[in-house]
Amino acid sequence: IPREQEQPERSSSEKTLKIVQLYPRDMNIYGDWGNTLSLSRRAQAHGYATEIVDYNPGDTFPQDADILVGGGGQDSGQTVIQEDLHALAPQLKEMAENGTPMLVICGLYQLFGKEFRTIGGDNLAGIGIFDAVTVGGKERLIGNIVEESEEFGTVIGYENHSGLTTLSGSTRPLATVTKGEGNNTEDSYEGARIHNVIGTYLHGSLLPKNPQISDFLVEKAAEKKFGSFEKKQIDDSLVEKARASAAARPR
Ligand code: GLN
Repeated sequence: IPREQEQPERSSSEKTLKIVQLYPRDMNIYGDWGNTLSLSRRAQAHGYATEIVDYNPGDTFPQDADILVGGGGQDSGQTVIQEDLHALAPQLKEMAENGTPMLVICGLYQLFGKEFRTIGGDNLAGIGIFDAVTVGGKERLIGNIVEESEEFGTVIGYENHSGLTTLSGSTRPLATVTKGEGNNTEDSYEGARIHNVIGTYLHGSLLPKNPQISDFLVEKAAEKKFGSFEKKQIDDSLVEKARASAAARPR
């Protein structure tokens, strides 16, 4: 679906959630737009109207963002957004501390940590929402991944990164890997969690395969904006099929 066709159908009585996709021009590999689209549809299924706003370097940052989503990027894309991200950092930190739900994948997950030392010798400072450090490795960690999360149950996806991330302090992992690599090759953790912010290496089709994560983002956004969230029963039979098939795939 072309981005321009995904616009809200709104009536004045509807409650609207504004989803801001961070840096789609430079940080949108492996179908990260698909996550935004999927999140928007899930929010609509729960009865909310949605508005999707792109934020690229130099744009005016939307003050009333309800959910932030940011995608993966190559080391070069990460360098392009670096300056802008740091200008935005105080605002993003404040929003994170105030409970704005956020999902950041791979390249942006790394930059939400404290630093990323790339294999090319660049030292990219992160914005420190996560107490995490990433170091570029010689090998890429690529393949299907399955992990268990206390909050979200079984999480299924695909990883492709060379950065190796280590968490510390009050940042908890998102999940423990049961198939695949995750944050690094040493511990079995994957992703990061703090406030209502989720960082993960799981790409593109994360949200279509893991609607429980969309539900979390929508719930936190709705509670924050409207004071409550009414969870609708959604028919997930197709999702369950997709999850079973993805989980059964070899690494
Ligand atoms: N450049 C980063 C890495 O390889 C992130 C890659 C990505 O977002 N897939 O670790």
